[in-house]
Amino acid sequence: MIRFWAFLLCFVAMAAAAQERPAAPSDYRQTAAVLAHYPAVADMHLDSPAFRTAEPSLTGQPAMADFLADLARGSPKAKLASIGRSTQGRDIPIVYLTAEGLSDPTAIRRLGRPVIWLIGQQHGNEPAGGEAMLALASALARGELAPLLGKVSVVIVPRANVDGAAADKRVLASGADPNRDHLLLSQPEVRALHEAMRALPPDVVFDHHEFSVAWRWVEKFKGLQGSDVMILEATNPSIPRALTDIARGLYRPALEAGIKQAGLSSFDYVTTDAGMADKRVSLGGTAPGIARNTFGLRGAVSYLIETRGVGIGLQGYQRRVSTHYLLARAVLEVSAADPGGLLRRLSEARAAAEADRSDLIVSHAEGEREIDLPLIDAESGAPKPTPVWLVDSRDIRPVDVRARPAGYLVLRGAEAVKERLALNEAKVCEVTAAASVAVEAYEVARTESKKRRESINPDQLIRVQIKPMTIDVPAGALFVPMAQPAAGIVAAALEPDSPGSYLGVGVIPMAADETEAPVYRVMSMAGLSLKPCSSR
Ligand SMILES: [Zn+2]
Repeated sequence: MIRFWAFLLCFVAMAAAAQERPAAPSDYRQTAAVLAHYPAVADMHLDSPAFRTAEPSLTGQPAMADFLADLARGSPKAKLASIGRSTQGRDIPIVYLTAEGLSDPTAIRRLGRPVIWLIGQQHGNEPAGGEAMLALASALARGELAPLLGKVSVVIVPRANVDGAAADKRVLASGADPNRDHLLLSQPEVRALHEAMRALPPDVVFDHHEFSVAWRWVEKFKGLQGSDVMILEATNPSIPRALTDIARGLYRPALEAGIKQAGLSSFDYVTTDAGMADKRVSLGGTAPGIARNTFGLRGAVSYLIETRGVGIGLQGYQRRVSTHYLLARAVLEVSAADPGGLLRRLSEARAAAEADRSDLIVSHAEGEREIDLPLIDAESGAPKPTPVWLVDSRDIRPVDVRARPAGYLVLRGAEAVKERLALNEAKVCEVTAAASVAVEAYEVARTESKKRRESINPDQLIRVQIKPMTIDVPAGALFVPMAQPAAGIVAAALEPDSPGSYLGVGVIPMAADETEAPVYRVMSMAGLSLKPCSSR
């Protein structure tokens, strides 16, 4: 009875919310002919709230909370906790799944198994990934996937953007896009996620989203997106090469096998600009603050999974949720097939990142090539391969390249820098004695900011010139070494002209009339004495 009233209340609330929402573009109706190309996936058992009724429905926050609480009560393997609260006060649940039923991150680390993080619904209007996370949690806790927990530990954050989900909106209640905030860490929801990750660092992260079916694709290219799923590994020039090799060599083939077996179609993740004039499409970008890239830069294998779902309500929902489920299952199975081998390769990749002395690519251009985009006809659903120019984020052409420093001295905004870097697993150190140190300073030549809609990691244009000099460094100053696995995070945050850098976004403040940045490159450690460094 209580459930009935809860349901009724939810229904009334949803109806009210639906009235508040503009009708487009969430109401794009695909034709029956198109829908016939996307039937439900056969032989799936999805144990999640949406599939407990004849017609699937969106799972509200209370239904999600009840489902997870039931799961944790009923299974010794699942432990439910909270990473914190959203801006509007909603709880953000996290589920730890281990054979031993542990909830203490340190104890889970000590198991010595690969730690796989699965994140759903960073964007609130992309529900299929979030729903799949619930079904996966159930399958791991008490279903077909439970045996895998002897080989891997799994952490699931089913709904990273709870406020956005409640409003069926992409962004957080603040209006910011959480998926762009992983380097800057300005939003409470994103910080909460990184606090939890610091306690239990990921070896592998899969971030589950959905992409727009009609939208600009119809307006610009006169077709619908046809692929069931679009996939992309971390793409940033500072991602350790060995991590990318694991992503492409081990995980991508496993994902493709899972897709093929279920009769689904896949493509690399592409997007296109809002401007109608620009007919190019881009592979997912290289910005270090995008979740997919940040996770890679901190030393995890990282993938984006996007199903065909934004703007079409619940059309084809079983297929969309099944796709996320099957891909995550493939990830867990391939990780569990040789967990020792995976951990060894990851540890070699991180050691290589720590030992890397190659030049830094601070800015770059991307190659372009012509591809056939697998669109479909909006009426019939027939394949409509469409030739387009692809801006290829895997094809990096270095523009600004500079020698990799031993580390960076940060003489202003040090607390904010230290705290953010630590949330991304970067070690920081403290100078123990005042010293005169030979450094490379940045002369900031020009600063512009072109803020885009939803942008919290603003596009910026900072030009710098490097000038050698000697500076007085006080005791207690912050030194951030580059000899560490998360070196890519450090360089992205501290090279001023890297996109979303801490100087560019104001975490390191600089007055308008100043020209010398309060961040310095240390090329040789001579003269610097440091306390033992930590990532806390
Ligand atoms: Zn998304």
